[in-house]
Amino acid sequence: PGAAAVLDAFSTLSDITSVKERSASTAVGATRSGTSCHVIVTPPSNWGAALVATTGSRAHLSRLLALPEAAGWRIEAELIIGESDRPLAAPTEAAFYGLLGLPELPPVLREDRGEIEAAQAGTPPELISATDILGDLHVHSKWSDGRHSIDAMARAGREHGLSYLVIADHSQSSVIAGGLSVGELAAQREEIAAVNDRLDGFHILAGIELDIKPDGSLDYDDAVLATFDFVTASVHSGFGQSEERVTQRVLSAMRSPHVDAIGHPTGRLLSRREPLALDMDAVIEAAANTGTALEINANPDRLDLNDEFARQAIEAGVQLAINTDAHAVEHLAFLEYGIATAQRGWVRPRDVLNARPVEALLAAGRD
Ligand SMILES: [Zn+2]
Ligand SMILES: [Zn+2]
Repeated sequence: PGAAAVLDAFSTLSDITSVKERSASTAVGATRSGTSCHVIVTPPSNWGAALVATTGSRAHLSRLLALPEAAGWRIEAELIIGESDRPLAAPTEAAFYGLLGLPELPPVLREDRGEIEAAQAGTPPELISATDILGDLHVHSKWSDGRHSIDAMARAGREHGLSYLVIADHSQSSVIAGGLSVGELAAQREEIAAVNDRLDGFHILAGIELDIKPDGSLDYDDAVLATFDFVTASVHSGFGQSEERVTQRVLSAMRSPHVDAIGHPTGRLLSRREPLALDMDAVIEAAANTGTALEINANPDRLDLNDEFARQAIEAGVQLAINTDAHAVEHLAFLEYGIATAQRGWVRPRDVLNARPVEALLAAGRD
């Protein structure tokens, strides 16, 4: 069928409530959910070029079109037009980059943040992928505000291809989130041991999501902190503090030898809460100096660290942890959002603590 027939069919789809714009080869429709949906009709020989044109940032595309290999190419009606004045013949994205003498750059990298130079030098970043992740260092259970038992979380973790989970329920000051008293911690350890006995080839580690209190002190004393396999310290209060105070607060948590990672470091909630007024340069420098990991929290409301801070952190030699912060078994699927954020930040497997087997993770612990 010709483009008109394809666009006519698009306009009659049950999810499309109206077509807002239409040209000979494109249409923009409104969907029932309120998102707009953009259709571009182009021959199969051009699909790769069309995909790059629609997934690359403006900056990435202009840099590519300025390469000598792209002489005579231009962007017109959202398509890349070649020297022959027809849509460029590049049926796949790899074929498109191949015409420019480059290896294929995945959509997450199409930002003009150095990826074109790296590709030209033959050293495109070696990106982390979901299959590199062996465990999750930050999940909750019914012991605090999670919806499922430790056993259910472990079984779900195994179904997701993981080999270990750190149960990181809330600490005692997080009263609303069901934070654990020292007595409850002891009872929880018994359950963790029982679940570990039942599971073959899967490890539950005893962790905590430790409140960093408004004055920078930690929510248990050192003797209790020393008993955890892995400690993620997080800010859950005092979001209005000044840059000076909130930065000192996080730095003082990192100086504790018991703190292995900082959870959702900036505290942002997308569209709902601005990030803390943290001096991220100072936080990243202290993370490097103390050997504290920084989290990429994969919850789609957080994505915290974001891609730019993640890249700054790995360039400073900081280890990252890509965690789902799951409060129910289905949240383990959030990992893909954390991976996409990490990839946008050029994060490699070697930069990620939970891409290591459990023995190496424990050996890397700070205490
Ligand atoms: Zn938290
Ligand atoms: Zn959490």
